[in-house]
Amino acid sequence: MKSPIRLIRKHINKLHAYVPGEQPKMRRLLKLNTNENPYPPSPKVIKATQSGVDDRLRLYPDPTSSELRKAISKLHKVQENSVIIGNGSDDILAMCIRTFVEPVHPQVNQDRNYKNKVQIFQPSYSLYPVLAEIHGAVLNEIPLLDNFDFPLPKDLKKIPNWDPRSALTFITTPNAPSGRGYSTSQLEQLCRSLKGVIVIDEAYVDFADENAMELVRSFPNLLVCRTFSKSYSLCFQRVGYAVGHPDLIGALDKVRDSYNVNGLGQIAAMATLKDLPYYQNNFELIKTQRSQTSEFLNNLDFKVLPSQTNFLLVRPPLKPASFWFEELRNLGVIVRYFNNPNLNEYLRVTIGSESEMKRFHRAIKKVLKMIS
Ligand SMILES: *Cc1c(COP(=O)(O)O)cnc(C)c1O
Repeated sequence: MKSPIRLIRKHINKLHAYVPGEQPKMRRLLKLNTNENPYPPSPKVIKATQSGVDDRLRLYPDPTSSELRKAISKLHKVQENSVIIGNGSDDILAMCIRTFVEPVHPQVNQDRNYKNKVQIFQPSYSLYPVLAEIHGAVLNEIPLLDNFDFPLPKDLKKIPNWDPRSALTFITTPNAPSGRGYSTSQLEQLCRSLKGVIVIDEAYVDFADENAMELVRSFPNLLVCRTFSKSYSLCFQRVGYAVGHPDLIGALDKVRDSYNVNGLGQIAAMATLKDLPYYQNNFELIKTQRSQTSEFLNNLDFKVLPSQTNFLLVRPPLKPASFWFEELRNLGVIVRYFNNPNLNEYLRVTIGSESEMKRFHRAIKKVLKMIS
């Protein structure tokens, strides 16, 4: 049969799909590659979700996730019309590009091309370039410093392609994949130097010391994005949200798929918000494991970057990171290896439970023995 490929838009044929971390089918593997939470959702969340499986599966869910929006607006002490819910926060990131960034069009005056720009810091979440490319936006990449900190505002101004007018700027805080945390005042400074829409992506904020939520009161061009996936053990259900000025939220709402958040996800997220202390206890357990594993690896001559997330970015000793990745995999331990020039000396290791980290430590010692 003849391929129908010529029927597809040229632009789409040229795209590179997002490469997600592996979701292996084999059981018994220790999965430390996609920053999932090692602890299950609270028993109350499981129960609520199970009791949502009934006759209601026949019906469409609440299209605006109104109950959940109300609960989140209370949590952050904002108006309900300052909150939008997404099918994971990835859904919201995609909506932001479609809502605020003009796709490149040959007739657009080139000196206005800030309207086409998605500005990101490198490295940060690897989905942003993929979303920008799909949309036909211009990607504007600003390097972070060697220690993954932001350049100071006066140094940003010296970077030739830094563009404060960029239609949309994504800021991942704490940073992924480095784990570095930023202070609220540092993020405020950055916001002050930007004129376009700013998305502060706080996917890992519950493991961090500070956050940027209060800044939505001072900056009408700021959206703060959060997710139930990582800290609330709910990746499977796909629920994320953004908080910001009602005019920005209203615009996103026009772009949103009408039933973007499934009913069981809404139920699970509601139940999560009613049981927050359960999760706060898990955050502490993960932070404890984080510091123990940092110390363990440090003592074995790994370079361990400071982390305010549920993962560590580490540079292993003696052999290339790709070698370590393969050998750990042979021992049934999967971590994340990024095959790109900025990061190919590093491995990213998700923090698991105490027993998982013990198993990880044993595997590290085995590989080390093999090569030294
Ligand atoms: C995991 C992650 C997300 C996406 O989370 P979902 O809500 O599961 O879509 C967004 N941003 C960053 C930086 C992430 O690591």
